[in-house]
Amino acid sequence: MAVKTLSLDGQLISARDGQTLLEAARESGVSIPTLCHLDGLDPVGACRLCLVEVNGRLMPSCLTRVAEEMEVWTQTERLQRYRKQIVELLFAERNHICSVCVANGNCELQDLAMRLGVDHLRYAPQEPQCEVDLSHERYGLDHNRCVLCTRCVRVCDEIEGAHTWDVAGRGTNCRVITDLHQPWGSASTCTSCGKCVMACPTGALFHRGASVSENVHDRETLHALILAREEKQWLV
Ligand code: SF4
Ligand code: SF4
Repeated sequence: MAVKTLSLDGQLISARDGQTLLEAARESGVSIPTLCHLDGLDPVGACRLCLVEVNGRLMPSCLTRVAEEMEVWTQTERLQRYRKQIVELLFAERNHICSVCVANGNCELQDLAMRLGVDHLRYAPQEPQCEVDLSHERYGLDHNRCVLCTRCVRVCDEIEGAHTWDVAGRGTNCRVITDLHQPWGSASTCTSCGKCVMACPTGALFHRGASVSENVHDRETLHALILAREEKQWLV
């Protein structure tokens, strides 16, 4: 196994060839904020929260592979400023009113805001009129809370194999859609497995009829399912 030696926040570390900077940093005990990333799903580098400085350039750590003699900084003042700015822009883009959200206390966007010290927004909230899709008998979709991380798209495609979700539209009209923009309840490809709900980092996807405390995103079950699939545990 080839090993790369690089500098991480001023410390020399060794990483396996092919690892991403995010993986290498986590193994070294360095925490880099992420939002679109979910272990076991293909990384897409969509949210840009995991940017790090590599030899002076900004690179997404979830997509950048380790290389010999890289000089990587993960917590510079510039990075912290950008990360805070990204979270503020996400809050301003749609309608994130935590106090009336089903994910209140169980939301990765909320956690990031607290971690990065976002206590007010410097950008005017856009307050778009977003739909809520309650056509599925078990789950709901509130576009107001969606941060377009595409975790639902990837988990449904890569893990469940249904590919019910996709992304349509551009800019402020960008939306996640089910089965070529049918209401979710009419999407014949959906197996009602609930993996997309488990993967969603915010209150955009939720269990219908469940209270706030019951609407937890069950990441442990999801990770167990992903691991079982990767290791083919169901085959004897
Ligand atoms: S419930 Fe399962 S099959 Fe249906 S959209 Fe979500 S992940 Fe896909
Ligand atoms: S519905 Fe949830 S998982 Fe899907 S893109 Fe929006 S925030 Fe991400």
